[in-house]
Amino acid sequence: MRILITGAAGFLGSHLSKKMLSLNHDVIGLDDLSTGSERNLKLLEKHPNFHFVKHDVRESYFVEVDFILNFACPASPRHYQSDPVRTIETNFLGIINMLHLARDTGAGLLQASTSEVYGDPTVSPQSESYWGNVNPIGIRSCYDEGKRAAETLCFDYLRQYDVDARVIRIFNTYGPNMELGDGRVVSNFIVQSLRGEPLTIYGDGSQTRSFCYVSDLIEGISKVVTLPGNPGSPINLGNPKDFTMLELAQMVLEVTGSQSKIEFQPLPQDDPQQRKPDISLANSLLAWEPEVELPAGVSLTADYFKDLLAR
Ligand code: NAD
Ligand code: UDP
Repeated sequence: MRILITGAAGFLGSHLSKKMLSLNHDVIGLDDLSTGSERNLKLLEKHPNFHFVKHDVRESYFVEVDFILNFACPASPRHYQSDPVRTIETNFLGIINMLHLARDTGAGLLQASTSEVYGDPTVSPQSESYWGNVNPIGIRSCYDEGKRAAETLCFDYLRQYDVDARVIRIFNTYGPNMELGDGRVVSNFIVQSLRGEPLTIYGDGSQTRSFCYVSDLIEGISKVVTLPGNPGSPINLGNPKDFTMLELAQMVLEVTGSQSKIEFQPLPQDDPQQRKPDISLANSLLAWEPEVELPAGVSLTADYFKDLLAR
């Protein structure tokens, strides 16, 4: 297939591009390089079937393709909150532009949605049937509500125009190709450990997250792309094992052998208290479940950051 991947220079987009190239697809990587990196791109550009286009998904774009993977959007709260208007525009206008492209070319589309659509969930684990608990006017809303609107658009284009739009809800994923200054918790703790700096826990560290290693996620995404028909429902993809941030900090210290201290900082507004995916739908539909345990994934990610810090 000829596949358009938006956000190709980013953390997940770069892994997805590599995966699709390895399956002999042609990949057009589209990115405005706002949070993505030249380093990720350089590795991809070595491949003859990869073509990069510098473009902002808020503007329309046309190319003949068979499938679109819409991943363009800053994912770290640090980045998506630094220009919230741009974030919600990227989500809303970005998916509209990609859905137009899918409708005009007959391409399938996969939208990278997020566990953030569940907001600060009042039930755990979260299954796809849970409608969420989202503040529409808070500092996370540009991302949460943008992603929710994008899901609505996908299902409206499916119903109204028969566009084969598929939605995955990704839970916190980590691994190589993240940036040193990304700001998300796993990369922060690892980089702080390697630099001998204090690990910054926001709040008392009792909030939970479940962390999926990137190779597991990419495997799940591949399976959604090749599903023979539209699943008709969003699909949760993530690791169902949850940890408190205090447990994560201690594990990172142990895996890296760091002597760093732990430092407590204020909890940001609307920080979800818990998050844990119910992956029974992915399990039955895709025969998929994550395989990489957190200590192994942290160790692989620490190797990547060690290499980056040594440059
Ligand atoms: P990332 O910030 O590393 O990558 C995002 C990429 O999108 C970057 O390369 C950036 O330059 C590009 N981008 C941003 N705005 C753009 C625009 N207007 N036009 C063109 N390109 C633009 O983040 P990531 O972790 O790789 O996340 C990728 C996608 O997956 C996002 O849509 C995110 O919401 C979703 N997601 C990720 C996670 C996770 O844990 N990594 C969880 C849930 C959802
Ligand atoms: N967090 C933390 N220290 C950090 C970065 C994040 O304690 O240096 C916390 C954050 O408050 C949240 C959790 O870790 O409770 C996950 O944060 P992240 O930004 O990785 O993702 P999200 O909040 O979007 O799930």
